[in-house]
Amino acid sequence: MIASRPPIVAGNWKMHPASSAEAVGLALSVRDAVAGLAARSVICPPTIWLSPVADAVGGGSTEPGRLGIGAQTMRAEEAGAYTGETSPLMVAAVAQYVILGHSERRQYDNETDASVAAKVASAVAHRLVPIAAIGERADERRAGLTAAVIERQLRAAISLLPTIAGSGLVIAYEPVWAIGTGDAASGEDAQAAAAQIRAILAESDPVGADEVAILYGGSCTPDNAAEFFAEGDVDGALVGGASLNAEGFARIVQLVVEARG
Ligand code: PEP
Repeated sequence: MIASRPPIVAGNWKMHPASSAEAVGLALSVRDAVAGLAARSVICPPTIWLSPVADAVGGGSTEPGRLGIGAQTMRAEEAGAYTGETSPLMVAAVAQYVILGHSERRQYDNETDASVAAKVASAVAHRLVPIAAIGERADERRAGLTAAVIERQLRAAISLLPTIAGSGLVIAYEPVWAIGTGDAASGEDAQAAAAQIRAILAESDPVGADEVAILYGGSCTPDNAAEFFAEGDVDGALVGGASLNAEGFARIVQLVVEARG
């Protein structure tokens, strides 16, 4: 169950902080706090702060123990008349990772299963690690549709990938009702979703499925993270609010390292 995939904790800074100086300061604090911890630690600042943050931390890396940098979204196309958007070439110039299909983008910015599929394939083609976010809304959970939503969103997200093996794909299971609410899922729920995700991936590529890091996201904090990392198929976390505190974020990284130690 616990394969050779390195654990990963990614911080989604959302639309924070408000200035370049604060973003650089937070990035440097995180870099120092996670230095040497044997996991992939990733910060995902707002697009406009990617360059100053990348410059400040020396570019970022996907190596465990070094800080990686990710975007929070991107367009699939390399160039064109897409006002306000960022292309994979632009992201790849300053980052190694990109979050795709976050529920807030699905809710507010018209992200669809089809656009997520195109973006995941584009990210891989541009040697970016896609962190594809999937998960059910509260109404879907109440209707007993959790597994069906996970399956639909996951199958769409991987539908345009030539192979899973070697793609670097990361899947974040983020129940929408748990994001920013303080109402985290249980470790058991996260494991059930992660096992379902790995089984679906294994249908098309058993070797590749074992390479994919599956993260839990939704009100993950230093106080509850260990519960998720105790589960065999949960390889880390996508952290929103708690990622804006360098020490707290590093504590979550430390917990995943201890769980996998
Ligand atoms: C997120 O934005 O992906 C997230 C999980 O947020 P939070 O940790 O604040 O719930």
